[in-house]
Amino acid sequence: MRRTVFNEDHEAFRETIRAFIEAEVVPVYDEWFAAGQAPRDFYYKLGELGVFGINVPEEFGGAGLDTHKFEAVLYEETARAGVQFGGSGVHVLLALPYLKMLATDEQKKRYLPKFVSGEEMWALAMTEPGTGSDVAGMKTTAKLSEDGTHYVLNGAKTFITGGVHADRVIVCARTSAPTAEDRRFGISLFAVDTRSEGYSIGRKLDKLGLRTSDTAELAFVDVKVPVEDLLGEEGKGFSYLGHNLASERWGIAFGAYAQAAAAIRFAQQYVTDRTVFGKPVAHFQNTKFELAACQAEVDAAQAVADRALEALDAGELTPAEAASAKLFCTEVAHRVIDRCLQLHGGYGYMNEYPIARLYADNRVNRIYGGTSEIMKTIIAKSMGL
Ligand SMILES: Cc1cc2nc3c(=O)[nH]c(=O)nc-3n(C[C@H](O)[C@H](O)[C@H](O)COP(=O)(O)OP(=O)(O)OC[C@H]3O[C@@H](n4cnc5c(N)ncnc54)[C@H](O)[C@@H]3O)c2cc1C
Repeated sequence: MRRTVFNEDHEAFRETIRAFIEAEVVPVYDEWFAAGQAPRDFYYKLGELGVFGINVPEEFGGAGLDTHKFEAVLYEETARAGVQFGGSGVHVLLALPYLKMLATDEQKKRYLPKFVSGEEMWALAMTEPGTGSDVAGMKTTAKLSEDGTHYVLNGAKTFITGGVHADRVIVCARTSAPTAEDRRFGISLFAVDTRSEGYSIGRKLDKLGLRTSDTAELAFVDVKVPVEDLLGEEGKGFSYLGHNLASERWGIAFGAYAQAAAAIRFAQQYVTDRTVFGKPVAHFQNTKFELAACQAEVDAAQAVADRALEALDAGELTPAEAASAKLFCTEVAHRVIDRCLQLHGGYGYMNEYPIARLYADNRVNRIYGGTSEIMKTIIAKSMGL
């Protein structure tokens, strides 16, 4: 079936990104993998390349577009090469939608030029040690000072992608207690400067996969956050989160489909090269059937991911549709990558083979951005169940 989502501009961008990955990422990726993170300088290079500014208005240094298609190309090309761009995905996928939707002109002038250049990297902190799926259960508080000039932030967050390198973090905190009728009431969002007194980075977490992204614990002890860094209206944080989680979930869905497609590519190459019992592994009917079944699943996931992309760009992707796309594409990727790893035999378990890293990287797609179980609750609710 002819694919219609990308035009010549996207394909030109694909060429640029592919060459950039070959020159700047592949040669050093093993070092990043061993270090457990991409170096800070790499994010300046992404800024120079224009990756961060695609959807930022021109007056703030960006390209002034309003589309997720270039991000989609990035997902396909990084997966194809078996690499990750460190923790930078959250900068664009998670943080930018909040800045575009909520920041005032004054805030945009302060935040966006440095966002585009990579001078200031952003992250998003919702999850806490005691609560992840149940966002409304968060305990971090932000109390307005008596003179009304700043909020005082106290609490802790965990699993924050980009948390080590981030210069600004969108922190979700309670500005008032939940009401008896509405547990979601009273959450607000703040663009917290990570250089503030009382802000500290805890452990850089040792993960199963996504080894080049810096995922960290954060702690806040009486951090003074100027009122000028409140994003949107006080108390409306939960509705902002609900709105923007759809784009985050599309991103995870699309990335998962792209990883599954890459897994087939790696497996096809491997089974052609590897000989067992005097024949290439590709010779066996089981191999052909396995890869054919994987291809059929990936074709379906690609169709879903592409349709969700078009709907997102049109501003029509509903939370339930995003949940459905995430559930489907991440579950497909889980099955496909596992089957492709199996075709590698023992080498598939070795980190020097991209399929092994892909297997570990992909696992979290069914967990973060909302687990598969939470996706099912959202879909079921939309069905009136
Ligand atoms: C590598 C990584 C990066 C991350 N990056 C970020 C980030 O940048 N920012 C951020 O804020 N968070 C981030 N997270 C957090 C992530 O979004 C949460 O881990 C996820 O939402 C699940 O929350 P939890 O870990 O607290 O699990 P829990 O909520 O404790 O869930 C435990 C189990 O209970 C199930 N469960 C929960 N509620 C229900 C229910 N109602 N019905 C049925 N089953 C249920 C879950 O599906 C799961 O199987 C990241 C996590 C990881 C692992």
